[in-house]
Amino acid sequence: QKQITRLPEWLKTPIPDSSSFKKIKNDLRGLNLHTVCEEARCPNISDCWGGSDKSAATATIMLMGDTCTRGCRFCSVKTSKAPPPLDPHEPEHTAEALSRWGLGYVVLTSVDRDDLADGGARHFAETVRKIKQKAPTILVECLTGDYAGDLEMVSHVAQSGLDVYAHNVETVEALTPQVRDRRATFRQSLSVLKAAKEAKEGLITKTSIMLGLGETEEQLWHALRELRGVGVDVVTFGQYMRPTKRHMPVHEYVTPDVFELWRQRALDMGFLYCASGPLVRSSYKAGEAFIENVLK
Ligand code: SF4
Ligand code: SF4
Repeated sequence: QKQITRLPEWLKTPIPDSSSFKKIKNDLRGLNLHTVCEEARCPNISDCWGGSDKSAATATIMLMGDTCTRGCRFCSVKTSKAPPPLDPHEPEHTAEALSRWGLGYVVLTSVDRDDLADGGARHFAETVRKIKQKAPTILVECLTGDYAGDLEMVSHVAQSGLDVYAHNVETVEALTPQVRDRRATFRQSLSVLKAAKEAKEGLITKTSIMLGLGETEEQLWHALRELRGVGVDVVTFGQYMRPTKRHMPVHEYVTPDVFELWRQRALDMGFLYCASGPLVRSSYKAGEAFIENVLK
């Protein structure tokens, strides 16, 4: 398989402005919240956090522990068949901490928990309900797994009071078996997005695709058509970055103008908005985009 090791110029980003990290650190002191932004030292932190308007700031929080029951070939999260049990106080604590933080938009995400009968759906939904009780102005996006195709659980989460339901297909259909855990299929992900859309009128659904895994243009067009077909509103594109040598190699570093081309194409196809760029992650400036495109 073709392997590329040299990093192109556009991915050599300056280290994010440390004042944004300091700001988060200060804000989070004593709140006992774990943000993906901080823990993964996300290069977008100045964009998501840089603005003076905190009501548009976005942060991503990881629920249900740090150990996943799946093993996708692009992901560096640790894996176990039997992760530690859920913390029953997590929904309450998360809501309490968020209400004190004063953030505008939160993305709640989690590992996949195939070891739990409901995949953690009730825990997720409970967290959303508690947040909306304690801090009703915070916009909430949930980025969930596929609940092993259990669409009742998808509806349960979709009806919890969240504002955006996100589930990532990650790649085109043809590459899915090589990229994602074998329990995850493109069709199953489409059915999750469809069920979420149908569960609540007006709910915004969202997905994310990594580029640079060897997908062809035709395969990408196909994926976008399928996603529009189940009513997905928002799509994001980012470059696949290999976390370690044990993970899938990068097939190609997609240039910024190709990212821009796909952003335009997605908008032309009727997606409501689209973030697309080499460093874009699915939560990239999600708050700002939601406020600009949905609330206004
Ligand atoms: Fe946090 Fe996501 Fe923004 Fe990165 S892209 S800073 S993880 S909200
Ligand atoms: Fe990583 Fe999600 Fe796959 Fe688990 S299901 S290995 S957290 S991408």
